[in-house]
Amino acid sequence: MAQPATEQPPADLQVPDNAIEVRGLTKVYGGRKARGSKPALDNVDLDVPQGALFALLGPNGAGKSTLINILAGLVVKTAGSARVWNIDIDADPRGARAAIGVVPQELNIDSYFTPREYMEMQAGLYGVPVRERRTMEILDMVGLTEKADSYGRTLSGGMRRRLLIAKAMVHDPPILVLDEPTAGVDIALREQLWENVRALNRRGVTILLTTHYLEEAEELCDRIAIINHGRVVACDSRDAMLHRLDSKTMDVTVSGAIGDIPDPLRRYKTDCPAPNRLRIHYQSGRTRAGEILDAIARSGLDIVDLRTEEADLAAIFRQLTRGDGGTARQPHEDEYR
Ligand code: ADP
Repeated sequence: MAQPATEQPPADLQVPDNAIEVRGLTKVYGGRKARGSKPALDNVDLDVPQGALFALLGPNGAGKSTLINILAGLVVKTAGSARVWNIDIDADPRGARAAIGVVPQELNIDSYFTPREYMEMQAGLYGVPVRERRTMEILDMVGLTEKADSYGRTLSGGMRRRLLIAKAMVHDPPILVLDEPTAGVDIALREQLWENVRALNRRGVTILLTTHYLEEAEELCDRIAIINHGRVVACDSRDAMLHRLDSKTMDVTVSGAIGDIPDPLRRYKTDCPAPNRLRIHYQSGRTRAGEILDAIARSGLDIVDLRTEEADLAAIFRQLTRGDGGTARQPHEDEYR
C-alpha cells in the first residue's frame, strides 16, 4: 500500500508502558449489517508491553491478521478502541500508523530493484529526509550488507523476508509487527530469522508477531496471547503460561521387560511405550517426583535411565481451546509444530 509522504513517528512522544493497548476490539466483516456473521474479532482486550517480544498465537482463521491489520490501519474495526504507542488509531490514524512497521506475509519483491534501491524508495514514501536515512545500517542489521546491490531476483526466500523486515524499519518505528514471519521459510532459515528479530528487540524495538507455530511462540517470545475464534483465551508471560498447566512427564527406562503396569504405579497415569519403558504423567504441584521413584522401587524395577519433561504449549493450547460448544474447529496436531 502506498503510504502518504511525511509519515514519521512523532519524535517527542514519551515511551509508554504499553506499546499497544486494545479494548473491546470487534470486527465483523461486511459491517454491522452483516447480521449473524461470526465476528472475526470478538471484544478483544490486549496489552503489548513496551519492549516485549510478543506472540499472537492461534490457528488459521483465529483473527490474528485482522487484529494486526486494524492496528496498521489496513482494516476498519467494527467496535472498540486501540492505541498504538499511546496514539488512538481513530484520533490520529497517521500518527498511529507511523509508530508501526508492518512486515507482510507475502514475499513480493520486484526482481529489478536492489535492496538498497528498495530501502531508498520506501524511505521516500515515508518522507524520511535523505540525511536521516539509515539504509545500510538497517540492511546490516538484517544481514543483507553484501546483497545491498544485487537484484531482487537473486535473493533467496529468507533474504526476501529479511529485506521486508528492513523495509518496515526505514521510518524507525518503535513497534515492528510481523505477520507469520517464518511461513514458507525453511527450518534452517527460521533460526536465522529469529536471531534477526531478537537482535531488533534487543535494540529496543517492541515486536508483535502472529504465528500458528507453537515452537515459534515458545522459542522466540517472552509473552504470548492465545487467540481462538476471535477471542483472546489466554495472555501471559511465556513462563507463566508454561507453568499454568503444571503437567510433567517422567520417562523411565528399566533394565528388563515390564509386562503389566505394576500395582504401586497404577495410581498414576502410566503408559508403557516400549517393553522396558514407562511414561508417568503427574502434576508437580500435587505429586513429588520422589514419591513416584519410591513406587518404581517398590515395583522391583531397576532404573537405567530417567528424564522428566515439562508441559509444552501444545498441551496448553489443547486445554484452552477444548470445549467451546462443539462449534470449534479443533486444531490439528500438525498445525502446531
Ligand atoms: P488468522 O490471521 O488468524 O488466520 P484472519 O484474521 O485472517 O485469521 O481471519 C479471521 C476470520 O475472518 C476468518 O474467519 C476469515 O475467514 C475472516 N476474514 C478475514 N479476512 C476477511 C475478509 N477480507 N472478508 C471477509 N472475511 C474475512
